[in-house]
Amino acid sequence: MKKILIVLAATLSLTACSLLGNINWDSAQLGQAAGAAMTAMSITDAQIISLCAQSIAQEDAKNRIDNGAYAQRLRRVLAGVQIQGMTLDPKVYIKNEINAFASGDGSIRVYSGLMDVMDDNELFAIIGHEIGHVVNQDTKKAMKSAYLAAAARGVVNAAGAVGVLSQSVLGDIGQAYFNSQYSQKQELAADKFGFEFTVAYNKDPYSMYNSLVKLQKLSSSRQSSYLEKMFSSHPDNVTRANKVKDMADKYTKKAK
Ligand SMILES: [Zn+2]
Repeated sequence: MKKILIVLAATLSLTACSLLGNINWDSAQLGQAAGAAMTAMSITDAQIISLCAQSIAQEDAKNRIDNGAYAQRLRRVLAGVQIQGMTLDPKVYIKNEINAFASGDGSIRVYSGLMDVMDDNELFAIIGHEIGHVVNQDTKKAMKSAYLAAAARGVVNAAGAVGVLSQSVLGDIGQAYFNSQYSQKQELAADKFGFEFTVAYNKDPYSMYNSLVKLQKLSSSRQSSYLEKMFSSHPDNVTRANKVKDMADKYTKKAK
Protein backbone atom coordinates (compact mmCIF):
# COMPACT_ATOMS: atom_id res chain seq x y z
CA MET A 1 0.00 0.00 0.00
CA LYS A 2 2.71 2.42 0.99
CA LYS A 3 4.73 1.93 -2.15
CA ILE A 4 1.90 2.61 -4.52
CA LEU A 5 0.82 5.69 -2.62
CA ILE A 6 4.31 7.12 -2.86
CA VAL A 7 4.44 6.43 -6.58
CA LEU A 8 1.05 8.03 -6.99
CA ALA A 9 2.00 11.05 -4.95
CA ALA A 10 5.08 11.58 -7.04
CA THR A 11 3.37 11.28 -10.37
CA LEU A 12 0.04 12.88 -9.65
CA SER A 13 1.53 16.24 -9.02
CA LEU A 14 2.64 16.20 -12.63
CA THR A 15 -0.62 14.97 -14.01
CA ALA A 16 -2.71 17.55 -15.69
CA CYS A 17 -6.07 15.87 -15.49
CA SER A 18 -5.71 15.57 -11.79
CA LEU A 19 -5.57 16.96 -8.32
CA LEU A 20 -8.13 19.64 -8.35
CA GLY A 21 -11.15 17.52 -7.66
CA ASN A 22 -14.33 18.84 -9.08
CA ILE A 23 -13.64 21.91 -11.08
CA ASN A 24 -15.88 24.84 -10.51
CA TRP A 25 -16.09 26.07 -14.01
CA ASP A 26 -15.48 29.71 -13.86
CA SER A 27 -16.36 31.51 -17.05
CA ALA A 28 -14.25 34.52 -16.16
CA GLN A 29 -11.26 32.27 -15.78
CA LEU A 30 -12.04 30.58 -19.05
CA GLY A 31 -12.59 33.89 -20.74
CA GLN A 32 -9.23 35.04 -19.52
CA ALA A 33 -7.61 31.90 -20.81
CA ALA A 34 -9.39 32.18 -24.11
CA GLY A 35 -8.58 35.83 -24.44
CA ALA A 36 -4.95 35.29 -23.64
CA ALA A 37 -4.85 33.01 -26.67
CA MET A 38 -6.52 29.70 -26.44
CA THR A 39 -4.42 28.55 -29.30
CA ALA A 40 -3.08 25.16 -30.07
CA MET A 41 0.37 25.89 -28.83
CA SER A 42 -0.54 27.59 -25.61
CA ILE A 43 -2.94 25.18 -23.95
CA THR A 44 -2.08 25.00 -20.29
CA ASP A 45 -2.39 22.17 -17.83
CA ALA A 46 -5.19 24.08 -16.10
CA GLN A 47 -7.11 24.23 -19.36
CA ILE A 48 -6.57 20.52 -19.89
CA ILE A 49 -7.90 19.81 -16.40
CA SER A 50 -10.95 21.90 -17.13
CA LEU A 51 -11.58 20.15 -20.43
CA CYS A 52 -11.37 16.77 -18.71
CA ALA A 53 -13.86 17.79 -16.05
CA GLN A 54 -16.22 19.25 -18.64
CA SER A 55 -16.04 16.14 -20.80
CA ILE A 56 -16.93 13.89 -17.88
CA ALA A 57 -19.84 16.17 -16.98
CA GLN A 58 -21.12 15.86 -20.53
CA GLU A 59 -20.82 12.07 -20.45
CA ASP A 60 -22.66 11.97 -17.13
CA ALA A 61 -25.49 14.02 -18.59
CA LYS A 62 -25.77 11.66 -21.57
CA ASN A 63 -25.87 8.43 -19.57
CA ARG A 64 -28.15 6.78 -17.04
CA ILE A 65 -26.28 6.69 -13.75
CA ASP A 66 -27.07 3.79 -11.45
CA ASN A 67 -28.04 4.43 -7.85
CA GLY A 68 -28.71 0.84 -6.90
CA ALA A 69 -26.89 -2.47 -6.76
CA TYR A 70 -24.23 -1.65 -9.34
CA ALA A 71 -23.26 1.56 -7.58
CA GLN A 72 -23.18 -0.25 -4.24
CA ARG A 73 -20.94 -2.95 -5.65
CA LEU A 74 -18.55 -0.44 -7.20
CA ARG A 75 -18.31 1.45 -3.91
CA ARG A 76 -17.64 -1.82 -2.09
CA VAL A 77 -14.96 -2.86 -4.59
CA LEU A 78 -13.20 0.49 -4.23
CA ALA A 79 -13.69 0.77 -0.46
CA GLY A 80 -10.48 1.91 1.23
CA VAL A 81 -8.80 2.95 -2.01
CA GLN A 82 -7.02 6.22 -1.56
CA ILE A 83 -5.06 8.03 -4.18
CA GLN A 84 -3.22 11.01 -2.92
CA GLY A 85 -4.42 14.24 -4.41
CA MET A 86 -7.57 12.75 -5.85
CA THR A 87 -11.06 12.45 -4.46
CA LEU A 88 -12.43 9.39 -6.13
CA ASP A 89 -15.79 9.82 -7.77
CA PRO A 90 -16.90 6.41 -9.04
CA LYS A 91 -20.13 6.06 -10.99
CA VAL A 92 -21.81 3.33 -13.00
CA TYR A 93 -23.48 3.94 -16.33
CA ILE A 94 -26.30 1.53 -17.07
CA LYS A 95 -25.22 0.34 -20.46
CA ASN A 96 -24.64 -3.15 -21.75
CA GLU A 97 -21.19 -2.41 -23.07
CA ILE A 98 -17.69 -3.29 -22.02
CA ASN A 99 -16.20 0.02 -21.02
CA ALA A 100 -14.50 1.86 -18.19
CA PHE A 101 -12.42 4.98 -17.87
CA ALA A 102 -10.80 7.20 -15.29
CA SER A 103 -9.94 10.86 -15.41
CA GLY A 104 -7.54 12.76 -13.24
CA ASP A 105 -10.20 14.73 -11.40
CA GLY A 106 -11.00 11.43 -9.68
CA SER A 107 -13.85 10.45 -11.99
CA ILE A 108 -14.12 6.73 -12.53
CA ARG A 109 -16.86 5.57 -14.87
CA VAL A 110 -17.71 1.92 -15.31
CA TYR A 111 -20.39 0.48 -17.58
CA SER A 112 -22.78 -2.07 -16.08
CA GLY A 113 -21.97 -4.38 -19.02
CA LEU A 114 -18.40 -4.63 -17.82
CA MET A 115 -19.48 -5.26 -14.24
CA ASP A 116 -21.75 -8.07 -15.42
CA VAL A 117 -18.84 -10.07 -16.80
CA MET A 118 -16.08 -9.33 -14.28
CA ASP A 119 -15.66 -10.56 -10.74
CA ASP A 120 -14.72 -8.04 -8.06
CA ASN A 121 -10.97 -8.61 -8.35
CA GLU A 122 -10.97 -8.34 -12.12
CA LEU A 123 -13.04 -5.19 -11.92
CA PHE A 124 -10.57 -3.75 -9.42
CA ALA A 125 -7.67 -4.56 -11.76
CA ILE A 126 -9.34 -2.93 -14.75
CA ILE A 127 -10.02 0.21 -12.74
CA GLY A 128 -6.37 0.11 -11.68
CA HIS A 129 -5.37 -0.08 -15.34
CA GLU A 130 -7.51 2.97 -16.11
CA ILE A 131 -6.10 4.91 -13.15
CA GLY A 132 -2.69 3.95 -14.54
CA HIS A 133 -3.48 5.86 -17.72
CA VAL A 134 -4.18 8.94 -15.60
CA VAL A 135 -1.11 8.62 -13.40
CA ASN A 136 1.10 7.99 -16.43
CA GLN A 137 -0.30 11.15 -18.01
CA ASP A 138 -1.78 9.29 -20.96
CA THR A 139 -5.14 10.96 -20.40
CA LYS A 140 -3.48 14.35 -20.32
CA LYS A 141 -1.77 13.70 -23.66
CA ALA A 142 -5.01 12.36 -25.12
CA MET A 143 -6.93 15.46 -24.10
CA LYS A 144 -4.22 17.70 -25.46
CA SER A 145 -4.35 15.89 -28.80
CA ALA A 146 -8.14 16.15 -28.86
CA TYR A 147 -7.87 19.86 -28.23
CA LEU A 148 -5.18 20.33 -30.87
CA ALA A 149 -7.33 18.51 -33.41
CA ALA A 150 -10.22 20.86 -32.66
CA ALA A 151 -7.88 23.85 -32.86
CA ALA A 152 -6.59 22.64 -36.22
CA ARG A 153 -10.17 22.64 -37.49
CA GLY A 154 -10.49 26.22 -36.29
CA VAL A 155 -13.46 25.56 -34.01
CA VAL A 156 -11.65 26.28 -30.78
CA ASN A 157 -10.47 29.72 -31.72
CA ALA A 158 -13.87 30.71 -33.01
CA ALA A 159 -15.51 29.57 -29.81
CA GLY A 160 -12.68 30.81 -27.64
CA ALA A 161 -13.20 34.31 -28.89
CA VAL A 162 -16.44 34.55 -26.94
CA GLY A 163 -14.79 33.17 -23.87
CA VAL A 164 -16.76 29.98 -23.57
CA LEU A 165 -16.49 26.81 -25.57
CA SER A 166 -19.87 25.79 -26.90
CA GLN A 167 -21.35 22.47 -25.82
CA SER A 168 -20.92 21.11 -29.32
CA VAL A 169 -17.23 22.02 -29.45
CA LEU A 170 -16.76 20.45 -26.04
CA GLY A 171 -18.68 17.45 -27.30
CA ASP A 172 -16.32 17.14 -30.25
CA ILE A 173 -13.27 17.40 -28.05
CA GLY A 174 -14.76 14.93 -25.54
CA GLN A 175 -15.54 12.47 -28.31
CA ALA A 176 -11.97 12.58 -29.58
CA TYR A 177 -10.70 12.29 -26.01
CA PHE A 178 -12.78 9.23 -25.16
CA ASN A 179 -11.91 7.60 -28.48
CA SER A 180 -8.18 8.08 -28.01
CA GLN A 181 -6.16 5.02 -28.61
CA TYR A 182 -3.09 4.43 -26.53
CA SER A 183 0.13 2.93 -27.78
CA GLN A 184 1.31 -0.52 -26.92
CA LYS A 185 3.85 1.00 -24.56
CA GLN A 186 1.15 2.98 -22.77
CA GLU A 187 -1.09 -0.09 -22.46
CA LEU A 188 1.73 -2.21 -21.05
CA ALA A 189 2.57 0.49 -18.52
CA ALA A 190 -1.11 0.70 -17.50
CA ASP A 191 -1.22 -3.10 -17.13
CA LYS A 192 1.79 -2.92 -14.85
CA PHE A 193 0.14 -0.20 -12.84
CA GLY A 194 -3.05 -2.28 -12.62
CA PHE A 195 -1.03 -5.23 -11.32
CA GLU A 196 0.73 -3.08 -8.71
CA PHE A 197 -2.60 -1.56 -7.73
CA THR A 198 -4.08 -4.99 -7.02
CA VAL A 199 -1.19 -6.24 -4.91
CA ALA A 200 -0.98 -2.92 -3.05
CA TYR A 201 -4.54 -3.57 -1.89
CA ASN A 202 -3.99 -7.28 -1.17
CA LYS A 203 -6.09 -8.54 -4.05
CA ASP A 204 -5.32 -11.71 -5.98
CA PRO A 205 -2.07 -10.91 -7.85
CA TYR A 206 -3.50 -12.64 -10.91
CA SER A 207 -6.47 -10.25 -11.12
CA MET A 208 -4.94 -8.12 -13.88
CA TYR A 209 -3.97 -11.22 -15.83
CA ASN A 210 -7.41 -12.79 -15.41
CA SER A 211 -9.16 -9.63 -16.52
CA LEU A 212 -6.98 -9.30 -19.63
CA VAL A 213 -7.61 -12.91 -20.60
CA LYS A 214 -11.32 -12.37 -20.13
CA LEU A 215 -11.32 -9.14 -22.14
CA GLN A 216 -9.42 -10.86 -24.93
CA LYS A 217 -11.95 -13.67 -25.04
CA LEU A 218 -14.79 -11.17 -25.08
CA SER A 219 -13.17 -9.20 -27.87
CA SER A 220 -13.67 -12.10 -30.25
CA SER A 221 -17.38 -12.33 -29.55
CA ARG A 222 -18.54 -8.82 -28.65
CA GLN A 223 -18.49 -5.53 -30.42
CA SER A 224 -16.86 -2.97 -28.20
CA SER A 225 -14.84 0.07 -29.07
CA TYR A 226 -13.23 -0.24 -25.65
CA LEU A 227 -11.96 -3.70 -26.47
CA GLU A 228 -10.82 -2.56 -29.88
CA LYS A 229 -8.90 0.30 -28.32
CA MET A 230 -7.51 -1.93 -25.62
CA PHE A 231 -6.23 -4.60 -27.96
CA SER A 232 -5.98 -3.40 -31.52
CA SER A 233 -2.53 -1.90 -31.07
CA HIS A 234 -1.30 -5.27 -29.85
CA PRO A 235 -0.63 -7.85 -32.47
CA ASP A 236 0.45 -10.25 -29.77
CA ASN A 237 -2.04 -10.08 -26.95
CA VAL A 238 -0.91 -13.36 -25.50
CA THR A 239 2.48 -11.82 -24.79
CA ARG A 240 0.79 -8.89 -23.13
CA ALA A 241 -1.25 -11.06 -20.79
CA ASN A 242 1.78 -13.22 -20.12
CA LYS A 243 3.83 -10.21 -19.06
CA VAL A 244 1.30 -9.54 -16.33
CA LYS A 245 1.25 -13.23 -15.45
CA ASP A 246 5.05 -13.14 -15.05
CA MET A 247 4.70 -10.24 -12.63
CA ALA A 248 2.15 -12.21 -10.61
CA ASP A 249 4.33 -15.35 -10.68
CA LYS A 250 7.34 -13.42 -9.40
CA TYR A 251 5.29 -11.68 -6.74
CA THR A 252 3.75 -14.92 -5.53
CA LYS A 253 7.13 -16.64 -5.41
CA LYS A 254 8.62 -13.82 -3.39
CA ALA A 255 5.71 -13.81 -0.98
CA LYS A 256 6.18 -17.49 -0.20
ZN1 LIG B 1 -5.63 0.91 -21.48
